[in-house]
Amino acid sequence: MKILFATSEAVPFAKTGGLADVSSALSQALSAQGAEVWMIMPFYRGVREELNRRGMTPIRCGSTLRIRLGNKLVEGQLYVTVLPGTSVPVILVDQPTYFQRNGLYQEHGRDYADNSERFIFFSRSLLEATRLLGFHPNVIHVNDWQTGMVPALLAIEGRAQPQLKETRSVITIHNLSFQGSFWHWDMLLTGLDWKYFNWHQMEFFGQLNLLKTGIVFSDLITTVSPSYAKEIQTSAFGCGMQGVLQTRHDDLVGILNGIDTAIWNPATDATLPETYDIDSLAQGKARCKAELQKELGLPVECDAPLAGMISRLTDQKGIDLIIENLETLLATGLQLVFLGSGESRYETALVDAARQHAGQIAVKIGFDEALAHRIEAGADMYLMPSRYEPCGLNQMYSLQYGTVPIVHAVGGLADTVTAVSHETLANGTATGFVFTEYLSSAFIDLIQQSVQLFARRDIWTQIVQNGMRQDWSWHNSAKRYLEVYDKVLSRPVHATLPVHSDNSTGPVSAGEAGAGR
Ligand code: ADP
Repeated sequence: MKILFATSEAVPFAKTGGLADVSSALSQALSAQGAEVWMIMPFYRGVREELNRRGMTPIRCGSTLRIRLGNKLVEGQLYVTVLPGTSVPVILVDQPTYFQRNGLYQEHGRDYADNSERFIFFSRSLLEATRLLGFHPNVIHVNDWQTGMVPALLAIEGRAQPQLKETRSVITIHNLSFQGSFWHWDMLLTGLDWKYFNWHQMEFFGQLNLLKTGIVFSDLITTVSPSYAKEIQTSAFGCGMQGVLQTRHDDLVGILNGIDTAIWNPATDATLPETYDIDSLAQGKARCKAELQKELGLPVECDAPLAGMISRLTDQKGIDLIIENLETLLATGLQLVFLGSGESRYETALVDAARQHAGQIAVKIGFDEALAHRIEAGADMYLMPSRYEPCGLNQMYSLQYGTVPIVHAVGGLADTVTAVSHETLANGTATGFVFTEYLSSAFIDLIQQSVQLFARRDIWTQIVQNGMRQDWSWHNSAKRYLEVYDKVLSRPVHATLPVHSDNSTGPVSAGEAGAGR
């Protein structure tokens, strides 16, 4: 089976969040299970720098791309390299004006004004690349809004090309709150007829919405955990898109992300002061904790419970619960370590807190992959009180590293952490602390409970070991994706919604949108 995996980020080339981890690890796992996977992504400045650092020279392939965007003809080039350390080929779409920038989507907290143009260019280039490189994929697997145009282009124009005649599209939603919503005139850039700009297809509250476009036109939709697949069909988590998703209920599948165990494995992790596994846990983790405390200027005390958090500092991640309850959390004797960047109100609050409580809180603002590993290894607990969490990776890294996650029961957090209770302690399944209502009182209770149990070393070690024994590798998830590809290939292409000529706009309710199928 031939898969073209389209993504806007992939480690080690370009990363702003979990999508980058998933892209690389899933492609590798799929190819390990026999699929022929080609990845395609923009040739960002960071990709060029990473290739240079590794002494890798990408090969220029195919003739020059010429993509029409509105009244412009934009040229680009295709290069081919491999995902470092693997045999997965990566097609890089080079267009210096769009991609030779400091950020992937934004700089100084502001989105690039031409993001729709950049990713419509990338989406059209992707289909053109299949022709220029003679690659005939069975499935084009796209991810998030950045490649959401692709299923529409495939359905409306692409299948007229011989190499894409039988090709199916699958879209994975990694986070529904990032939708790629742009002003309606950007419809001109897509090159598609205005008749598709209707509330059943590409329009959403008067804007061009690239994620909705992907959801409506793709043959099948996946998202990154079974719980999130259910949640996004409700108004509480649907970000307004619940009606559209309900209409595609039968085509919506939740598959839990895995983790890349070649990168996230405490037994082989070269960034740690000492590697460890379940048998050498006590010594290895104690050393990692002491070194982390030293590195971050915290008192080196093995009996002080140390809670870590590595995160984008946004509303989603529940930082407000921590900041609002800081004094109460500190009163339990916790040491707190934060690594992250994002909204300035959170950055400032955390930096101020670290200044006020220098011996108990350490904060690093920025992105630091190696420190992220050292925190996972050195912390006793990991905080993930997210308001919503499509899947989340850090709680799985934590389980792998013997760091007990403290999480809000949403999305992938609910699917991966088994709450400590009398019953789960007795049957050996308890792996972490879980609160169900997003309330300060529930969060504080849980922190206090975890600190109390931390002092009971026998019980604590049992919880830690339960987590470390679990297998979060991509093997099983990749198998599920292969089943999804088989499913879409075994049935006719998804018949997209009938086009309405009135261009009327408005929210899609389940009933209305359902009538349109
Ligand atoms: P999201 O994709 O919503 O940001 P995930 O938990 O799915 O959250 O994935 C986040 C990934 O990004 C994890 O691998 C996490 O370790 C990493 N990460 C987030 N912020 C930082 C940071 N400041 N430094 C290093 N790694 C980070």
